[in-house]
Amino acid sequence: MAPLETVVVDGKSLSQEIRGELAEEIRKLVEAGRRPPCLAVVLVGDNAASASYIKGKRRACARIGMESVERDLPGSASEADVLALVDELNRDDGVDGILVQLPLPAGVSAARVAFAIDPAKDVDGLHPVNAGRLLQGVPGLYACTPCGILEVLDRHGVELEGARAVVLGRSEIVGKPVSLLLLHRHATVTVCHSRTRDLPAVCREADVLVAAVGRPRLVQPDWVKPGAAVIDVGVNEVDGKLVGDVDFDGLLGVAGLLTPSRGGIGPMTISMLLRNTLQAYRERSGA
Ligand code: NAP
Repeated sequence: MAPLETVVVDGKSLSQEIRGELAEEIRKLVEAGRRPPCLAVVLVGDNAASASYIKGKRRACARIGMESVERDLPGSASEADVLALVDELNRDDGVDGILVQLPLPAGVSAARVAFAIDPAKDVDGLHPVNAGRLLQGVPGLYACTPCGILEVLDRHGVELEGARAVVLGRSEIVGKPVSLLLLHRHATVTVCHSRTRDLPAVCREADVLVAAVGRPRLVQPDWVKPGAAVIDVGVNEVDGKLVGDVDFDGLLGVAGLLTPSRGGIGPMTISMLLRNTLQAYRERSGA
């Protein structure tokens, strides 16, 4: 049998395509005399990685003609300080989306902060109202990484209806919401976690396999059905190198579609954040 040709997803190009579409929409809105959408990003403390993520997100906003504002609080800020800032941004009519960069300092509950964000501005899609909308399959602001995963699958023509989808991980931010998105698209979904028995056997049934566990190279070539679409969400550092949750090199020639750990789902997540902010803007302003 001839070896299988794996299509490696170019998340950067795909993201450029999506951001080009968003830029065009914003250009038309501004041309029609409207203000551009605005994303507010909140950074608490001086975590270097968080600061760099925020810089990247603000740069991405600027490139598509979206405004952004950054509000920084010191690492000594209390939960009440963070909630007061969120409240101020909720009431600011010029702000369409609010993103509070995680992780937050000890003593500040990420859940309580997420719950405090106005669901209409919750561009991370983590508020229970938006999570509930996703559960029910009604329009809302959905979590960015799961939306990016669906976008990758759709833009590569992966058939989801009737497909067996296996999701590794059940987090609120990736595993659960992507399982629901796949279910709404009529896939037969199995959600796995740390207590799942015989994980390799479950994975081998998958036509679509999503790995979001945070375990370097957990998914091995003999766990994957030949030709399956494999989405690697994992971001792990091993000996100073970025490594995903799947054995990328090993899966070449086995998977039909494969995302790399760098330049795969990461840029798609930011594109979905921009798309959510534009969606929030349109819904709030009726534009
Ligand atoms: P998380 O909250 O840490 O959850 C990990 C999940 O994986 C849990 O459900 C856990 O099971 C499960 N798990 C852990 N070890 C396992 C094992 N050996 N076998 C089966 N399941 C196992 O993770 P997350 O926030 O979803 O993130 C997952 C990965 O994606 C991380 O590497 C993160 O950095 C990355 N990520 C990337 C992006 C991006 O934009 N590229 C966005 C978000 C996250 P239990 O529930 O039983 O504990």
